[in-house]
Amino acid sequence: MKKVLVLEDEANIRGFIVINLRRAGYEVIEAESGEEALEKLKAQRDIRVALLDVMLPGIDGFEVCRRLRANDANIGIIMLTARSQEMDKVTGLMTGADDYVTKPFSPAELTARVDALMRRSGGAEPEEKTGELVSPPFTLNLRNRALEKNGERVKLTQVEYSLMKLFMENPGKALSREEILDTVWGHDYFGELKIVDVNIRRLRLKIEDDTANPAYITTVWGFGYKWGE
Ligand code: CA
Repeated sequence: MKKVLVLEDEANIRGFIVINLRRAGYEVIEAESGEEALEKLKAQRDIRVALLDVMLPGIDGFEVCRRLRANDANIGIIMLTARSQEMDKVTGLMTGADDYVTKPFSPAELTARVDALMRRSGGAEPEEKTGELVSPPFTLNLRNRALEKNGERVKLTQVEYSLMKLFMENPGKALSREEILDTVWGHDYFGELKIVDVNIRRLRLKIEDDTANPAYITTVWGFGYKWGE
């Protein structure tokens, strides 16, 4: 069964999320503190998506995200943020989250986000991919989803992997932010285009030689991004 962890200290919000995810067919593991969440995630390695509230007593959601991501590149992470905490959203994504949901959210929106990440984290991968994409100095292995730059492994999250795959499959082609959002996050995705920029900024930190002057993922002003110059 597809397992999701919900970290939220407020019992009524947690209950609302849990009921809706169970209704959508997920097995839900609950945690009310960051410490409890990390323990449960460590004990149950088959949890594929974690929903992390930001504001918590004890360690906060960003810290949970950081520690979780340090040990697990594959798990999908969604931050639950309060209304209009724009900087918080960006900070969350930079610490390794894949997505964020702003409170208050609708059950349909939340479920769509979890579904999208579940697909990314290999939960419902339709076909078995083989082979590799090569674009020197990069090699992307489609079987084990590993990226190498000059033979050195670069650790990617599932969203970053999907972005790399999209770019390397379309060298030199200008990809609009809408197209990137549709391909990587899914057509039923409710999110904002900004999430594309934030994830690409983070990916550039990992792959570019000079992030101030990107040579691999280049910006197409007013449109989107392109692989190569
Ligand atoms: Ca809270």
